[in-house]
Amino acid sequence: MTVDDLGFSSRAIHAGQEPDPTTGAVVPPIHQVSTYKQDGVGGLRGGYEYSRSANPTRTALEECIASLEGGERAFAFASGLAGEDTVLRALLAPGDHVVVPSDAYGGTYRLFNRVLKPWGVDHSIARVADVESVRAALRPETRIVWVETPTNPLLGIADIAAIADVAHGAGALLVVDNTFASPYLQNPIALGADVVVHSTTKYAGGHSDVVGGAVVVAPGALTPRGESVVERVAFHQNSMGAVAGPFDAWLVLRGLKTLAVRMERHCDNAEVVVDFLQSHPGVTAVHYPGLTDHPNHAVAARQMRRFGGMVAFRVKGGEDVAAKVCAETQLFTLGESLGGVESLIEHPGRMTHASVAGTELEVPADLIRLSVGIEDAADLVADLRQALDRLT
Ligand SMILES: *Cc1c(COP(=O)(O)O)cnc(C)c1O
Repeated sequence: MTVDDLGFSSRAIHAGQEPDPTTGAVVPPIHQVSTYKQDGVGGLRGGYEYSRSANPTRTALEECIASLEGGERAFAFASGLAGEDTVLRALLAPGDHVVVPSDAYGGTYRLFNRVLKPWGVDHSIARVADVESVRAALRPETRIVWVETPTNPLLGIADIAAIADVAHGAGALLVVDNTFASPYLQNPIALGADVVVHSTTKYAGGHSDVVGGAVVVAPGALTPRGESVVERVAFHQNSMGAVAGPFDAWLVLRGLKTLAVRMERHCDNAEVVVDFLQSHPGVTAVHYPGLTDHPNHAVAARQMRRFGGMVAFRVKGGEDVAAKVCAETQLFTLGESLGGVESLIEHPGRMTHASVAGTELEVPADLIRLSVGIEDAADLVADLRQALDRLT
């Protein structure tokens, strides 16, 4: 029996995490070290030479994430955006073109628009919930189709398998940002994705105490130029150097051990919150892939285990009311980010997505986004009720 034959939770707890060979410690140590003694020149013990190139705590995390996503290899980074930048530099060259979602994490769009574009990589915007929109955005020089699903902040759903077919038919790779679903709810590689990226800052870490990222490569994936994606990303991870530090890697690894139980509770609580929001007269729309009237509910039901802990909704009264609701909740903390045990509320138009105001990616001004935590659902509903009753 190899660890990859085990169920999700067993892999989360054991993949890459043998008891320490010298002490028997059941948790991988934090190898807070930069360099390693060599037994004669070039005589490396276990392949470790310098911690930018490889560090045992980071290796444990990388092996665990690769197992959870069904990848050939995973690479851990200092942030989600560091991982995104590294994989884009590894796979693209000036003159190439990428297809970018209309409803993406604001920082991802900024990377495409203000870092990649001046470097010479242009993009087109597609509504990834609509496969035909992706097809229409392709150009002869398209090398990557980038998809986020569920999307941020509108909780749209992209059909990963269908878009993989479209991308591959055009000679492009499919990269999926799986941050919102986490590897517990969705595994894009099994659906045809070539690369998966994560902000491990979110559900993977799960406790709002670390910033990190991961890139996972599908078995045998080749770049459009015929090179090994694993080798390209490994080379760029070491050459660009935006790696996860040992303590950050250790925190994410610890977070992953409870991912399955946390996600089940996030989903349970989100369902209760969605029910409440739908019944409140001050709420004009609720965005949640688990709702049967969500436009791509059937796709979500097919490719996700459950529907996640992220919920968005719109309120009567417009932008100012939305901003006030965010300021008036007490248990839901007003803040950016998501995926931690504590519930968060935010106003995308003025916060996470302020950088896309006035661009093709602008979001509705009366939208509120919730990251539903794992507190008691009744307390979360009571908190939203007191804010909405007063303000809408
Ligand atoms: C937060 C986030 C990112 C960026 O990750 P950082 O760790 O903040 O750099 C990318 N994609 C999504 C969907 C995110 O939520």
